[in-house]
Amino acid sequence: MTADLNLHVDLPGYEVRDNCLVVGGRSLLSIADEAGGRPFYAYDRQLIDARIRELREAVPESIDIHYAVKANPMPELVGFVAERVAGLDVASGRELEIALAGGADPAEISFAGPGKSDDELAMSCDAGITINAESANELARIDRIGTEKGIRPNVAIRVNPDFALKASGMKMSGGPQQFGIDAEVVPSVIAEQNWERLNFRGFHIFCGSQNLRSEAICEAQSNAVALAIELSKSAPRRPEFVNIGGGFGIPYFPGDQRLDLSPIAHNLRVLTDTVSDELEGSKLVLELGRFIVGEAGIYVCHVVDKKVSRGTVFVVCDGGLHHHLAASGNFGQILRKNYPVLIGNRVSAEDPVTVTVVGPLCTPLDLLADRMPMADPQIGDLVVVFQSGAYGYSASPIGFLSHPSPAELFV
Ligand SMILES: *Cc1c(COP(=O)(O)O)cnc(C)c1O
Repeated sequence: MTADLNLHVDLPGYEVRDNCLVVGGRSLLSIADEAGGRPFYAYDRQLIDARIRELREAVPESIDIHYAVKANPMPELVGFVAERVAGLDVASGRELEIALAGGADPAEISFAGPGKSDDELAMSCDAGITINAESANELARIDRIGTEKGIRPNVAIRVNPDFALKASGMKMSGGPQQFGIDAEVVPSVIAEQNWERLNFRGFHIFCGSQNLRSEAICEAQSNAVALAIELSKSAPRRPEFVNIGGGFGIPYFPGDQRLDLSPIAHNLRVLTDTVSDELEGSKLVLELGRFIVGEAGIYVCHVVDKKVSRGTVFVVCDGGLHHHLAASGNFGQILRKNYPVLIGNRVSAEDPVTVTVVGPLCTPLDLLADRMPMADPQIGDLVVVFQSGAYGYSASPIGFLSHPSPAELFV
């Protein structure tokens, strides 16, 4: 039975027992005990599993779903997800180690991102994963490193398309970008390579992140497929795959509408037919991070102090911006809005109060909730920030002010 948390955001179903939040079937108080008194992140494996099943049911069977590890690289979580998706996308040497240790098949791991070091390229060659090349120089370095090792590296071409994913939280394509090779020069860059030494596997066309508009996602995916078909004419051989990115968003703020998967699923079915006609033998790949894990995580810290300043009630916690930059509004938001926040050990109250929840840092940016109604917080209470499973721990300046780092629990 799920509870209405009264947060005006469409969260996945959470249970409440004795007015205490239940996560992964366990009372929040018991999880907090396990974290040993530190602030912590908790990731609910059941919610991740349910999300992947939902995706798998919606998306045509012939399309592979990959997990973008940078959304949440916690090793235990990555291992769990790796068993349930077709492949992993990594963005650093360390993420590659985590992906391999998590049991992912190297043939289904790809490595994207600008500025890969020689060491990272060498690791990738040794592991036999696919390197998504971001520039002509990078291709030359991959070729040199492969030749030195006597290995024929697997490469895909990351393309910077001439279109963007409209209405995205973060645009990563169209116009000048540090990502990928501009679509119009891809044919000449391909023509300059020695494909005896490099094994061409496909194209990677990623356009942006955190999108809640299914029409915009459909449009970008259709454009990506059309571009891949066009570019394939100059490819050394038929691409084995076309990675058309993801960008699927999750609701964070009041008024955010949950992404409707059905129009996307329909469009993908049309695109699968197009691909089988035009690029027979190629498979389409979706790569998703936030959508898979974002809603499955919470961040929790303790109330340490409470004070009133000129009429505003400040609730001061032992965690904040240094643990969860995104919830403080400083990770790509233009207008700061509150993430869904409540007191986890007293979920509902007869008479909520309006408070401002801050962290322990010496900066006014350290804000977890700005004038939000909740059960009157008491010292020792657990402040819970929902929608924290992606771009939380690893996307935060943990070292700032040298406070202890939060625990991470996979429940
Ligand atoms: C960040 C990133 C992703 C994941 O984006 P989400 O919005 O978390 O789904 C996928 N692919 C690439 C290349 C990325 O850089």
